[in-house]
Amino acid sequence: MSTSANKRGEVECAKEHNLKYEVLDSKQIRERFPVFEVSEGWSGFYEESAGFVVPEWAIPAYADIARKNGAELHENVQVVDWSIENDKVIVYTSDSQKFIGDKLVLTAGARIKALAKLDDLKIQVTRQVLWWLDAPKNSPVDTLPIWALQLPEGILHGVPRMPHGYLPGP
Ligand SMILES: Cc1cc2nc3c(=O)[nH]c(=O)nc-3n(C[C@H](O)[C@H](O)[C@H](O)COP(=O)(O)OP(=O)(O)OC[C@H]3O[C@@H](n4cnc5c(N)ncnc54)[C@H](O)[C@@H]3O)c2cc1C
Repeated sequence: MSTSANKRGEVECAKEHNLKYEVLDSKQIRERFPVFEVSEGWSGFYEESAGFVVPEWAIPAYADIARKNGAELHENVQVVDWSIENDKVIVYTSDSQKFIGDKLVLTAGARIKALAKLDDLKIQVTRQVLWWLDAPKNSPVDTLPIWALQLPEGILHGVPRMPHGYLPGP
């Protein structure tokens, strides 16, 4: 949901991937999800099949698929350096191993700048604060789907209440 009525990006994306969607005006948002007291001019994009990925389940699944396709995974090992010699890439790890290959793909997330030796890259890692708020039992939030509010200060988003212990994490 946002103050902008322009949902072109979301609509194009849903169309491209054949997803069922609805564009809601502020009145429809208030009627269907009364917990949101949105003002006139707000609009919403509702996608019936929206969901979220639980990394603790998804990452091991991706790793299994990779292994089944011939990948060799080395867990709990840090890449400490890499170099290029004679058109080959050499990777050095914290357990003193050395790997030689034709190509290197670095996916170090927030630590990419140092590992990729991109000192000139003008990126700054910023802290993203996450906090969990519980709602009173049997409140209207119990019927909410996954939702996001796009505010000038940033995005607020939430997930439906899950049975305690169902998901890993807090
Ligand atoms: C609180 C929070 C909520 C978020 N919510 C969403 C969301 O709802 N939807 C969404 O799309 N995105 C969300 N994101 C963003 C998303 O998590 C990131 O964009 C995504 O994880 C980035 O993936 P990545 O593979 O680039 O980096 P990462 O997921 O950070 O993975 C990098 C990995 O590299 C490892 N690594 C780093 N350096 C080395 C090294 N030298 N040697 C070996 N390994 C190394 C790290 O340990 C890490 O495991 C959220 C992020 C945060 C912080």
